[in-house]
Amino acid sequence: MKTLDELLRQERFSDADIVRLLGLTDPEDCERLRRAAYDLTTRLVGDLVHYRGILEFSNRCTLNCRYCGIRRDNRELERYDLSLEQLVEGAVWAAENNYGSVCLQAGERRDELFVAFVEECIREIRARTRSERLPDGASITLSLGEQPLETYARWRAAAGEADCMRYLLRMETTNPEIFARLHPDGFAHEKAYASRIQALEDLRTAGFQVGTGGMIGLPGQTLADLCADIRFYQRMDVDMLGMGPYILSRGGDMLDEGMLEQGPLLQLALNMLAVCRLVLRDVNIAAATALQALAEDGREQGIAYGCNIIMPNITPRPVRKRYQLYDNKPCIDEEPTDCRACLEGRIHRMGRRVGWNQWGCSRHFRRRMNLPISVDAAPARHEQSPGAGLAGIPIQLGSVSDASVSMRNDAVRRDP
Ligand code: SF4
Repeated sequence: MKTLDELLRQERFSDADIVRLLGLTDPEDCERLRRAAYDLTTRLVGDLVHYRGILEFSNRCTLNCRYCGIRRDNRELERYDLSLEQLVEGAVWAAENNYGSVCLQAGERRDELFVAFVEECIREIRARTRSERLPDGASITLSLGEQPLETYARWRAAAGEADCMRYLLRMETTNPEIFARLHPDGFAHEKAYASRIQALEDLRTAGFQVGTGGMIGLPGQTLADLCADIRFYQRMDVDMLGMGPYILSRGGDMLDEGMLEQGPLLQLALNMLAVCRLVLRDVNIAAATALQALAEDGREQGIAYGCNIIMPNITPRPVRKRYQLYDNKPCIDEEPTDCRACLEGRIHRMGRRVGWNQWGCSRHFRRRMNLPISVDAAPARHEQSPGAGLAGIPIQLGSVSDASVSMRNDAVRRDP
């Protein structure tokens, strides 16, 4: 069998290699994996971390995903919608504070009122975030679920010609049985496995930079399932990944049965991020806020394991508590200014710089579109020797209990 160091020097990985890397638990092995992912990020993507200021503009949702705190049937939740002016003001605040990019997220709706509202927001944000520092305005990521191709085309067109539009649509899991367990039957437009794949293809057709991702550590999910997720991302040739650990929500209707303990779950999520970097190489990978729900420095650990995108929450504070897809969501009591200041220091401590006033487009996207690699995706200032940027920084590895390891291994063995 290959040594771990031999394995980590490869550029191509078999399924068995991927499963082996995902399942690492020994702290020294995890550190080797982390270092390989971090150095590859430096080499292929650069040392900049880009912000997407996230605006959660409505918690109304027509769907009922069982894991989600804002699902349709959660009657306890007070619903809210930001106005167009509030939303645009939030984006202008982001641009004035040197964020080159914002992300608009809401529950899933497909009615014309909603579609036209988003269309208008895109136009306004693109026009009103222009400045000397950001002459072409902010780039925008949408995270608004499955929509018909014509809606994607309308939203894409509203932004104008520039390659500034991204869309994140998580596949959640590529295991159809687990996917089916997450989504109850009943409504005509409830999520379906096949339509989700079609939506990802439609986004590509409409001209978006396309991102997907999944939940890590879902009950019943195996390492082989996560490997299949990575193969799916490869087949779809995605530009961006947004993945996070599965965390229970009190507003959902799933039980905590079969969940990993916090430490092993964090380590598995970090391993997944690192392996995605090694396999998918030059895609943008977001350090999900959910990592911070597991460890105070969870997002920094995500950067250390190969992420290059962070999504600070800039939703107005009074409504933030009402947008909790999962429990213990961090930063819900902080002002956007607090997030900005605290994050930059954390990023510097990870040996990275913030890419202020830049769109931070996926290099993968630029490569597949034959576009020049943009100046904003500048190469690293210096080649990092393994771990050089992190020397002396303790990386908090998840504590792995025997019980949870055996649960995870059992899950692997159960896989056909
Ligand atoms: S995950 Fe998205 S689509 Fe599903 S219930 Fe939550 S907000 Fe709605």
